[in-house]
Amino acid sequence: MARIQWQLGKVTAIIQETPLVKTYRIQLPDWTPHLPGQHYDLRLTAEDGYQAERSYSIASAPEQTGEIDLTVEFMEDGEVSGYLHEGIGVGDSLEVRGPIGGYFVWRDSMANRPLFLVGGGSGVVPLMAIVRHRFLIGAKNPTQLLFSVRIPEETIYRTELDRMAQQDTTFQLSITYTRQVPADWQGYHRRIDRQMLTDQLRQFKEPPVCFICGPTQLVEFVANELAEMGLPPADIYTERFGPTGT
Ligand SMILES: Cc1cc2nc3c(=O)[nH]c(=O)nc-3n(C[C@H](O)[C@H](O)[C@H](O)COP(=O)(O)OP(=O)(O)OC[C@H]3O[C@@H](n4cnc5c(N)ncnc54)[C@H](O)[C@@H]3O)c2cc1C
Repeated sequence: MARIQWQLGKVTAIIQETPLVKTYRIQLPDWTPHLPGQHYDLRLTAEDGYQAERSYSIASAPEQTGEIDLTVEFMEDGEVSGYLHEGIGVGDSLEVRGPIGGYFVWRDSMANRPLFLVGGGSGVVPLMAIVRHRFLIGAKNPTQLLFSVRIPEETIYRTELDRMAQQDTTFQLSITYTRQVPADWQGYHRRIDRQMLTDQLRQFKEPPVCFICGPTQLVEFVANELAEMGLPPADIYTERFGPTGT
């Protein structure tokens, strides 16, 4: 297989999604359609030649041609996320290569199976590519997104997710806030647990294909629980973003 080459993209827009999260819209000279769930590698090079490289999931659907959206959470002392948030503006160039990844991907052939998506924090990013693409191709497979967020202000893509849930009766959004909840909140207010997963799975008539993404601890917990609840491991796709828990 040919090696994917580095290319210099141009930042055409920056969207402040939440106080700590920004989306970078990057126009690519050599854009190739991606599968929802794939990521790009991003490389920063300092004047002295020092390089730092990190992976970022593609947030946009492949229907958004010629460009990709990368959604990046600011990490305290984060080398790459810190530089992106503080040092990169519209018109700047960024070195990226991709799309990368052949496992954590939702293919159109899966549109005949129910879909259960579980995301923690910025782990919602590749799931967003899936729900955006699924929406654009008009898939009607029952789909639920369970999104674990610390506090309401940190709910990435909230407006768009609410709109999709209103427009598409086959798509259901459940948010669980682990720390603070909005006033008059009727939904979940705790970390994801067995009871929550049982409630979610009960709503499917057939066993779903599952995609789980977020902090390592969340991903491992949810994947183990779903397997213990009887879902075949081959139907549980996982992507771990980092070391900490929400
Ligand atoms: C396949 C893949 C896709 C990814 N997609 C995204 C994405 O879409 N959006 C996004 O924001 N991030 C994503 N990440 C995480 C990203 O690659 C970086 O790890 C993250 O941006 C931190 O890098 P940094 O250089 O800013 O921090 P570093 O300088 O590497 O680390 C700074 C501090 O943060 C801690 N830390 C590092 N990464 C994480 C993390 N993910 N969670 C919690 N603590 C962490 C470190 O232990 C350290 O204490 C993805 C990771 C993978 C493997």
